[in-house]
Amino acid sequence: MVGMTRLCVPLTGSTCEQMAAGLTAAAAGGADTVELRLDFLQEWSEPAVRRLLEAAEAFPGDVIATYRIAAEGGHYDEGEAQRISRLEFVGLSGAVDYIDVEYEAWRVSANVRQKIGLVCDVNADTDRPRRRLILSKHDFTGTPIDLDSMLTTIAREPAHVAKIACKANTIVDALRMLDALRTSAAVRPTIALSMGEAGLLTRVLAGKFGAFLTFASLEAGQESAPGQVSLAEMKQLYRWDAIGPATQVYGVIGCPVAHSMSPAILNAAFGETGFDGVYLPFRVEPEYAAFAAFVDGCVVRPWLHLRGCSVTIPHKQNLLAYVEKRGGCVEPLARRIGAANTLCIEPGQQEDGTDAVVSAYNTDYRGAMDALLAGMGCRAEDLSGVSVAVLGAGGAGRAIVAGLRDCGCAVTIYNRTRDKADALAVEFGAEARPFEERVRHNADVVVNCTSTGMWPNVDDTPMPAEGLASRPLVFDTVYNPIETRLLREAREHGCRTVDGVEMFVRQAAAQFERWTSRPAPVALMRDVVTAKLRSAQH
Ligand code: NAP
Repeated sequence: MVGMTRLCVPLTGSTCEQMAAGLTAAAAGGADTVELRLDFLQEWSEPAVRRLLEAAEAFPGDVIATYRIAAEGGHYDEGEAQRISRLEFVGLSGAVDYIDVEYEAWRVSANVRQKIGLVCDVNADTDRPRRRLILSKHDFTGTPIDLDSMLTTIAREPAHVAKIACKANTIVDALRMLDALRTSAAVRPTIALSMGEAGLLTRVLAGKFGAFLTFASLEAGQESAPGQVSLAEMKQLYRWDAIGPATQVYGVIGCPVAHSMSPAILNAAFGETGFDGVYLPFRVEPEYAAFAAFVDGCVVRPWLHLRGCSVTIPHKQNLLAYVEKRGGCVEPLARRIGAANTLCIEPGQQEDGTDAVVSAYNTDYRGAMDALLAGMGCRAEDLSGVSVAVLGAGGAGRAIVAGLRDCGCAVTIYNRTRDKADALAVEFGAEARPFEERVRHNADVVVNCTSTGMWPNVDDTPMPAEGLASRPLVFDTVYNPIETRLLREAREHGCRTVDGVEMFVRQAAAQFERWTSRPAPVALMRDVVTAKLRSAQH
């Protein structure tokens, strides 16, 4: 548990037996609170509910009972009087510690206020009520402008906990939700969460900002609201137990971003080195304005402690433009490449964050160079004069040609679309040859920067086997599959090989080192990527 913030699993079984099994699983998975989502029950049988409540009494942490109506995102759509009597029955059983009722139902119904108020001792003069009341408001369409007043309106009622959950249509909505959480949590127990993919940061960082609880689903597919992460992800991927008020925040900005491997690699690296950081996916819409709004939004909230981001498609050019606009430092080679993938934020002294310093780097070329040097067993100085055949002239090709030329390599570019090879060659002082001539290269190193051979076209190769007869070192930037046909054939011809995982890991390692000033646990990072790729392939 982060401070006092609970990690609550909503139980969404359709029978009481399933929910009872969920209690055991939630406890085993490390949840300290569960929510019985009674509205998920397909039928209401009092004996079965009684057995569920007996099981709930054995749960080691606190139990919340919620019987959510359809109008607020739940499944219950029968009579209100019946719902409140059932909730009262559950409350009076003594098995639950909290009852969650919608603020709106509470406001309009004297029956709700009387029955649930009594069960929750809201008017009793006691510091130790038998049960506590959570009053909640939900918006599944968007995030209203004035979240503070939503929470203060709830707090005018005798609620023990005020809860709001709103759909984040953009990630800036989620930042506004954190504002509201911080303000409210300073004076009362508060749950303030953003729903949807863009709201993920409010769920994972709830403990950093003193929320009463955050939710995590028992398993993927058992979410009670959009955007919930699973209990296992919360505990293992995001290292919930290690997140505290001083934890520094990092993430990957992209669109889409849900399948990025970076959170797994970077969080594992933080854990391994004992670095107090957490790394999240940030889904930011493709336009420059959305990118700038998110990063500006983080910079003006220094208490968020956002210190850096990986930046991926489609934002690599946006990052350069943003940092240049703010007068920050852009790594010269990143500027020449025309893309950056690493943002660093150095906090200033001002409370409004206006004196923070931003900078941008490109660790894609750095990762490729580090992978190549490790494969060749030499140092950057030794690359001078080494001849390299680069296949491809897209984004990866461009970064790698720039990196190779920076180290003094003699580079020949072979690209299917000849014009692109010519333009790239002129820009970086390389040579361009027709794609068909690639088999006749006489280079020491061949680097594949095309997407040929990538899953699912695993039987394709960008270089016919004759092109491997001179035994160059072969580096394939494609990492899915880990061993491409190109690498397999290269090995069979006695070539040394470097795979795309190595480049991927080294670019992440370069980010880690830039952000933390600590040596990256490269072997562990490689294991994480390899395991992820293998499990995706199965
Ligand atoms: P990109 O900008 O779309 O460029 C794709 C390149 O592949 C172009 O040069 C394109 O040639 C060529 N190509 C595509 N299909 C081809 C075919 N059937 N035959 C010949 N050439 C073909 O993509 P990118 O961002 O450069 O990525 C390229 C590869 O690099 C991807 O497979 C990706 O997995 C890999 N990569 C790896 C890492 C890593 O960390 N390991 C990082 C970035 C990228 P045309 O110009 O003729 O279209």
